[in-house]
This record gives sequence, structure tokens and C-alpha cells, in this order.
Amino acid sequence: MSVRRRAPHLADVRAGFTLVELLVVIGIIALLLAILMPALSRARESARRVQCMSDLKQLGTALMFYTQENRGRFPGAWEWHPRLNGTTWEGPLLRYHGISNAQVPKLYTCPSDDPETRRANRYPFTYTANWHVFWFDPTRSVAKITEIRRSSEKIMIIDESSETVDDSVWAPENWFGDRQNMLSARHDLRRERARESNQEDTLKRGKGCVVFADGRADFIDRRLAMDADYCDAKKP
Ligand SMILES: [Zn+2]
Repeated sequence: MSVRRRAPHLADVRAGFTLVELLVVIGIIALLLAILMPALSRARESARRVQCMSDLKQLGTALMFYTQENRGRFPGAWEWHPRLNGTTWEGPLLRYHGISNAQVPKLYTCPSDDPETRRANRYPFTYTANWHVFWFDPTRSVAKITEIRRSSEKIMIIDESSETVDDSVWAPENWFGDRQNMLSARHDLRRERARESNQEDTLKRGKGCVVFADGRADFIDRRLAMDADYCDAKKP
């Protein structure tokens, strides 16, 4: 006797997912995203930190060339609205980079900073120059690169905090009663995770990018940048 196989009826074949299955899949995708997103943003931020250090190193190298061609002297520093054909350091260093005017803001601005979100008509970049090194106050600044003591430990240009940056000079001390110009901690992810108070003391924690007077760029503690051993060019 032959058994006639019945053709599968349409109703027996499940055409798609049930609602529960769909919810489970969506849940798994959301979970994976939640796990991956912090890792992705960490990777993106550390790539920006590398770019920031590379920009600073490039500026440091240009500065070395400048001093060599100017009998050891530095360009000027203080300006709210630096003109690229002016005398403050941003302009004179341009000729050593070999870049177009359109690329200028990129070289002088940290990739994690957006100067347009700050007060209008103030400093349009992020990197600022140490007023103990560049011309600002003749009693403190150095006249020639050879006057810098322990140059491998003295900071020249920093990635300044968006909370304090307003001009092209970095004054590590309190000046005009203003808040101390601070090194930025925008690339410091550990700092970002730390939920600390808004007190002045905790605001100074974290690390940021600088370039030293020997042309070396580094990611250093914000407190070190405030220390005269690292910012006072004439300190032995
Ligand atoms: Zn930066």
C-alpha cells in the first residue's frame, strides 16, 4: 500500500518571525551596540589624540626652523585675532608647513575642539604658546632659544582647554585675576569617566597634549603643566 505524501500546506510554513523573536533580535543588536559604542568612541578619541600630538609636533618643528633663521629669537605670542600675515607665532610659522590657507585652521586647532562654539570674535584656534617662552612680558619671556634652561622639559605650545582658551598665549599663572589657562583634558577618557565635582581643584586633573622646547610632543598631566619646572623657561 502506498502512502501518499501530503503536500505541505501553506499554513504549516511560518512565513516570518514572531513578535517575540523580533524583540529578542532587536534586544541582542541593542546589547551589542551598547558594548561596542564605548570601544568605538575610545578608538576615535585616541586617534584624535594622535592627530593632536602630530599637529603640535609639526608646530614645534616649525618653531625650531624659525629660531634657527632668526638668530635664536621667537615670534610674538599675544593676540586675540591672529592674522596669518601678522607677527604672532601662527603667521610666521606658516611658511615652514607648506600648507594652503584652507588647511591652516586644521593645523592650529585640536581635532576634538570646535572654536566656533566659544565666544564670538575670540581666538579662532586651540593651540596656545607659553608666555614664558614667547615674547609677552620682557621680565619673564626669553629673548633667545639658548636662554631656555632644561629645554627638553619646558613646554612651548599646549592644547588649551576650551574652558579657558581666549587668545594665542598660554599663561599658566592666574593673570588679570582670570582663571588660570589650563591644558585641555579633552583626549583623556579616564578623566571623562570620572564623575568629579566642579571644584577648581578637580578641574585640573587629567592629561593633555603639549610640545616641548626640544620639539618632542607628549601627553602629560595637567598639573605638571602648571608646575614652574615645566613652564618657566628660565627656571634651572
Ligand atoms: Zn587635542
